[in-house]
Amino acid sequence: MINKGITWIVLALLLTASATFTATALSGDNIYIVQKGDTLTRIAHRYQISWRELAQANHLENPNLLRIGQRLRIPETASSAVTPAGGTVPYRVQRGDTLSTLALRYNTTVQAILQANELEDPDRITVGQLLFIPAVLAEDIPHLPLGPIQSVWVEPGVIEQGDTLFVRVRVAPSSQITITFDGHHLPLAHDNSGYWTVAPVSALARPGRDTLHLQAALGGRVVKLTWPVWIVQGNYAVQHIILPPAKGALLDPQKLQEERDVLARVWAKSADQPLWDGRFLTPVSPAFAISAPFGTRRSYNGGPVNSYHAGCDFAAPGGTPVVAPAAGRVELARPLAVRGNAVIIDHGLGVHTGYWHLSSIKVKPGQMVKPGDLIGLVGTTGLSTGDHLHWELRIGDVPVNPLVWTRRSFP
Ligand SMILES: [Zn+2]
Repeated sequence: MINKGITWIVLALLLTASATFTATALSGDNIYIVQKGDTLTRIAHRYQISWRELAQANHLENPNLLRIGQRLRIPETASSAVTPAGGTVPYRVQRGDTLSTLALRYNTTVQAILQANELEDPDRITVGQLLFIPAVLAEDIPHLPLGPIQSVWVEPGVIEQGDTLFVRVRVAPSSQITITFDGHHLPLAHDNSGYWTVAPVSALARPGRDTLHLQAALGGRVVKLTWPVWIVQGNYAVQHIILPPAKGALLDPQKLQEERDVLARVWAKSADQPLWDGRFLTPVSPAFAISAPFGTRRSYNGGPVNSYHAGCDFAAPGGTPVVAPAAGRVELARPLAVRGNAVIIDHGLGVHTGYWHLSSIKVKPGQMVKPGDLIGLVGTTGLSTGDHLHWELRIGDVPVNPLVWTRRSFP
């Protein structure tokens, strides 16, 4: 038993060490020198290619046999084969995980996970261990020796309701690419590393397996690829709200609908490239308490739990400055019946942020803003019972947790 424990510590250290890539291993142009502790899978992962490609490029008969000091040719990604490029998703083992449940989540097999990680015993995984999970490609892909889709990166592999999915795809030059999720075409941005986009997972999305559809066309050849996205519960609280008769009367269905129509027109229009750069700021500072988190399920006056809080409420006192969290263009700046004095900023690529119940508005429609620019002051206008800032972030017309955007940067 003691021996087994020690083996585990050693393996865990090895895996952790392999996650930090060193540039020292690189020598010359596209040549990699095998280091102690390397495996083909890990080397391939560093270069975002598959171990099969690497094995093929180096005519390796047995991918398990590597010598320290051996020189490996790293194939040009532009001419690399499809199967299954970028086909592993990094995953840190959580309490309660087994290889069987992971295989089920990622639509792969226990055997494939064992192989990709060079593990032998399926019962030997530890909490915190880093695994590379091979995701499954459409059946027609592995038969293509070459194809326009070179690598796919989807993050996170297991996503909570209300979170933002990040997708990066590398394709051969001149390919046409489309990405679809939940029946919507995702707008694509382009940078040095290829195409990328963000997709919303609704706070009410059904837990279970969903699918990202990628399609690339090059010179008459069309390659389709499906990528599993595993959605898990967001652990949102349920709030039963009883509105006093006076406030209830404000919820006039016609007024509500008119306001929804105004907003729908704003969500539908967005710059086709991202206007933001890096992580979002929190729109009020210091960090005020959150009086109502994003995603809380709501029932009104004893009715069904069929709505949820689309934003994040900060308990900031009246008059607190509200700033733009990122660069963008002001699309709406005016009073609304329910949302009170409202500002909406378009950040491009379908991403908008909204600010409700302001005591005053400091921007005009059409104005370009930079991160930190004053856009309004906290208040309690519209259907609100006290001073607070309601902040929401939408991708397309789907609200997602805005705090996620303050913690990580897209791309
Ligand atoms: Zn709110």
